[in-house]
Amino acid sequence: MSQKSSLHYYEDGDVILIVQDTAFCLHQNYLSMASKVFRDMFSCATSYMADELHELPRINITDTSSLAFENFLSFIYPQKFVSITWDNIEEFCRIGDKYEFSSVLEAAEKFLESHFHENPLLSLILSDRYYFNIVYKESSKLVLNELQKYRQNSQFLLLSYKTKSAIFERYLDFTISITTIRSLKQRKNFKHHSLCSLTKHDQEINKWYETFFEKYEMLNNTNNNNIMLSPSKSISIIIKCLMEFWSDYINGTWSECDYRFFNDYLAEQFVSHFGNFEPLKNEKSKKDAEHYMFIELKD
Ligand SMILES: [Zn+2]
Repeated sequence: MSQKSSLHYYEDGDVILIVQDTAFCLHQNYLSMASKVFRDMFSCATSYMADELHELPRINITDTSSLAFENFLSFIYPQKFVSITWDNIEEFCRIGDKYEFSSVLEAAEKFLESHFHENPLLSLILSDRYYFNIVYKESSKLVLNELQKYRQNSQFLLLSYKTKSAIFERYLDFTISITTIRSLKQRKNFKHHSLCSLTKHDQEINKWYETFFEKYEMLNNTNNNNIMLSPSKSISIIIKCLMEFWSDYINGTWSECDYRFFNDYLAEQFVSHFGNFEPLKNEKSKKDAEHYMFIELKD
């Protein structure tokens, strides 16, 4: 025998859902509007139930606990408002996904978009599972930036194989690009302006570039006493060096060639060497925002 739910047993309800030992008397219309799976289930259940006893159709829900389901109903029923929190989001997503409550998944996605920084790993796990594009990209920035820490968390194993490989690949690419930063010295495909005296300008550029690497190594050594720098810290050192490098030359008279070298060519070289880095979405307008690498969901 099941007991009636104290929160969600509506006398005017027209369907009974049984979860573990609890009966919920609910409204078919209401659930059908929110969930495609329930809509289909009810259309079968009612035609099947046209019996003489006037009993309400009963449906067993087997894959969740009565408490979690009660909470879930409190979220979707308008009078008893429950909001999404870190404590209920996993179960809400699971039930919401299984029974196709799109509004619940949308609410979960919204929650994660504004809270992912509080729990980047769980945000990545959930956005991986339920295809939340923005959250996936944003939380991957923070997970990649502290990968050693997050890898030791047993939850890391809950990421899909695809996401784990994408994370490791991105991290490895970055590690390689840091150790091969000097290969940037071999400049390829920089086309000088037709009026430029090529040999002299090449020598100048070499001199500038040498200054950049000196600056970089100096800063890197003072910051790196056997501590492995996070990718965002490493990149900020590189950006800082580039800015100083630029500002040293900004007052000089720039030829068209110089201009293209500093503004287009170098930026392109660095992006193709290190891959894309960008700030968190909600910090983009912030001056001095940290830059992170990331992975993205692909269809
Ligand atoms: Zn030139």
